[in-house]
Amino acid sequence: MKYLEDMILEHGEVVGEDILKVDSFLNHRMDWQVYNEIAQEFYRLFSDSGVNMLLTIEASGIGIAAVTAQHFKVPAVFAKKAKTSNIGDDLYRAMVHSFTHGSTSDIVVSKKYISAGDRVLIIDDFLANGQAALGLVSIVEQAGAELVGCGIVIEKGFQEGGKKLRDMGIRVESLAIIKSMSEGKIVFA
Ligand code: 5GP
Repeated sequence: MKYLEDMILEHGEVVGEDILKVDSFLNHRMDWQVYNEIAQEFYRLFSDSGVNMLLTIEASGIGIAAVTAQHFKVPAVFAKKAKTSNIGDDLYRAMVHSFTHGSTSDIVVSKKYISAGDRVLIIDDFLANGQAALGLVSIVEQAGAELVGCGIVIEKGFQEGGKKLRDMGIRVESLAIIKSMSEGKIVFA
């Protein structure tokens, strides 16, 4: 998506070898126009797939999923990072290791909000090693729901998440795929 690539080139900041900061329009300051363009593109890609709910993970997926939900006219559910290990049996849960924070958390979704028969589109801001997406895929599977695919805003193609998901037969649509970022220079696939 040319518009998004241009925003990344103009405003993105490469931190170290493998972190991209896009705080000025995506992850801290939320630019409604960028969010709307992203949501429209996800709708164009998946509108024929019978999606009846979106699934994302807190915190950075929430804004994107909420705007995208307006285009699909379906609810967006976000997996919560569980605060305690003492959680009831009314929840689906998965373990997710955070690439950016280096910590592992239990993510949970209430069984009330995802069930067999749902057609789920997973939405997230970044795809790196695929841990967040795989945790969400596991929750969809536990619920017996149908996974339509993953809509990712920025995939770092030099990390392994995209390959893992595609090797599992999952449809992954990333609006910008970064091939490399060495020495601060962003190159798209
Ligand atoms: P993964 O689970 O695929 O390894 O990492 C994806 C999650 O980590 C995303 O939900 C995102 O919040 C965060 N993340 C991974 N890489 C980056 C990055 O380069 N920049 C930012 N801002 N977040 C990232």
